[in-house]
Amino acid sequence: MMPRDFVPRAGYAALRAYSDTLPRAPIDLAANTNQWGTAPSALEALRESGVADLRDYPTSDSDALLDSIAEYIGVPRECVIVGCGSDGVLDAALRALVAPSGRVAHADPTFVMGPHFAAANGLMPIGVPFRADGDLDADAMLAANARVNYVCAPNNPTGTSPSRSAIMNLVNGASGVTIVDEAYAEFSGESYARDAATDGRLLATRTMSKVFGLAGLRIGYGIGVPALIAEIRKARGPYTVSTLSERAAVAALTNDRPWIDRVVTEVREVRTKFTAVLTELGYTPLASDANFVCVPVENAPAIASALRMRGIGVRAFTRLTGIGDALRITLAPWDVLEKVVGALSEISREEGT
Ligand code: PMP
Repeated sequence: MMPRDFVPRAGYAALRAYSDTLPRAPIDLAANTNQWGTAPSALEALRESGVADLRDYPTSDSDALLDSIAEYIGVPRECVIVGCGSDGVLDAALRALVAPSGRVAHADPTFVMGPHFAAANGLMPIGVPFRADGDLDADAMLAANARVNYVCAPNNPTGTSPSRSAIMNLVNGASGVTIVDEAYAEFSGESYARDAATDGRLLATRTMSKVFGLAGLRIGYGIGVPALIAEIRKARGPYTVSTLSERAAVAALTNDRPWIDRVVTEVREVRTKFTAVLTELGYTPLASDANFVCVPVENAPAIASALRMRGIGVRAFTRLTGIGDALRITLAPWDVLEKVVGALSEISREEGT
């Protein structure tokens, strides 16, 4: 008999595919999605799409969407690339910019898919801890001498923002490109996207999954100089955004800016309040610039499952570098967060008894 075993690619055995292992909780605060809903014009565009025919491909680069994003950010459309989520753009950018086995330095802890996509593309991710004051360690990142530096601003899972000066020191000192992942930029108000349109050493990635409430459409984008964008396009391939996703996203970008402004205002309000209440309860939440709060705790998985038993899903992290265990809790309207506060108090009382 011929052997029928599948032989995996070298280096892939240690990789783990990302998966939501648990079913979503009734109150799902685990994925930093928009708890205020979905940009209303996007939903309306989908309801009214009246599609009768989908035999044609969309345009290969999603031209209408490029125009809307270019207008939203305030850059020329040649500086924009879209992808299947910002995950898709990040994956393609790493592949386009770093030759096999090249180094990718990233802050640690950071968004897991950064180092994952690096490894999956045959590159070498190198984690660099944050400084004791919580800022990005630009010198240590530079010492890694990587072809690409990956930085999240605000960072996931901490919610904290590296300082602009640390990021610019990194950009200015590096020989390669710095990718600034801005999935949560609208919540912080700080962005490097316009800098990236004129500075070939920077690529900003962004998404419509968070503040637009469109995670289900899978739309992300990158901003960089045209020559850099052209390279990433080679690695990404065509047609990565579906016809209907594009239509809905264009409607949201065109009509829903006041709606997202309101979401941002409310996120900031509850962020301040939630952080203060958690602090009163004896927790030490990190100062968040995003739509979630990172709360260091002992034994995060146990607390997360106790919350889950009360219908609340949060993300538990274990042994984060420099932090230890932590819960990452997506912000939501205050009546929802009140339930989280109540459940946490109950759990800590039970632990104390
Ligand atoms: N970057 C960061 C920092 C994220 O937190 C996320 C989503 N969890 C992503 C990128 C991926 O977003 P998208 O839905 O656009 O793929």
